[in-house]
Amino acid sequence: MRRGFFVFTDFTVIIFTMSEPKLGDFSNMPETDAAETVAERMARKIIEEHEIQYQKLQAENARLMAENVQIKAENERLKELSTHDPLTGILNRRGVEERIELINAVSQVEGEKRSRHEKRPKRKFSVLSLDIDHFKNVNDTYGHEIGDIVLKKVAEFLETVTRKYDIVARWGGEEFLVVFYEIDAQRAINKFFNEEYRIEKYKGLDKSENTPQLSLIVKTEKGDIEVTLSGGATDYVPGEDFEKARERADRALYKSKEGGRNRITKYEEAGQGK
Ligand code: GH3
Ligand code: MG
Ligand code: MG
Repeated sequence: MRRGFFVFTDFTVIIFTMSEPKLGDFSNMPETDAAETVAERMARKIIEEHEIQYQKLQAENARLMAENVQIKAENERLKELSTHDPLTGILNRRGVEERIELINAVSQVEGEKRSRHEKRPKRKFSVLSLDIDHFKNVNDTYGHEIGDIVLKKVAEFLETVTRKYDIVARWGGEEFLVVFYEIDAQRAINKFFNEEYRIEKYKGLDKSENTPQLSLIVKTEKGDIEVTLSGGATDYVPGEDFEKARERADRALYKSKEGGRNRITKYEEAGQGK
């Protein structure tokens, strides 16, 4: 569109016309007047700079995200280290304590939900302390490395005979601990440590004359090694101080040792009273 206006001077009519200015259209500009081109170039430079900055930020973001994944993995690894035994891969004391805290928290919530008039008893768990018999002899006879293999096999055996949600831990040295979920000590012994069950679950077991005896054969490069375990079991009702239950189980374990090893004693049977 063209704008125009008329100027009347005497008899002459002069018509002025102007083109409407178009932004960014420098095609008609004389080459000497390069001011707009420079501005345009500057604008492009700024945009390019921003693009570079943006890409840098994206790269930094990706690096931080990768670092975050690494930190998370490292945290998991540290957590695993703090709650598991490095030799056998099963839980350690700290791992057991954490799991017990969880059981007690759940039990407390359940207790609060339970109506006051309801006489339903609390769920019973059981704690079993186990100790390898004469383990020093294994180390002395076959060496520490073979001793380690035996420890691993005992851990594997305990994981095999128990259920996924039972707690199996290396308490320290050649001592192990099992917490059975929702099953009292007597039932746990009958169910998990009778010969039939063990032979079915764990092929490397020796024959035991009486239940609940506890022996297994570990195949090693230095031959088959028979090891026996002594155990002590007691009931555990969530909410109770876990350490007290563990001490009861330990006392029953010493009874097993005194009685000739290779057996599990239930706390009440040990004659220590409740
Ligand atoms: P008992 O039947 O009375 O329990 O006798 P024991 O020989 O099993 O008990 P003792 O306490 O005399 O010896 C335990 C041995 O366990 C001594 C120690 O060197 C060994 N031991 C502890 N931790 C490890 C380990 O991680 N690897 C190996 N190979 N041996 C260990
Ligand atoms: Mg011991
Ligand atoms: Mg021992």
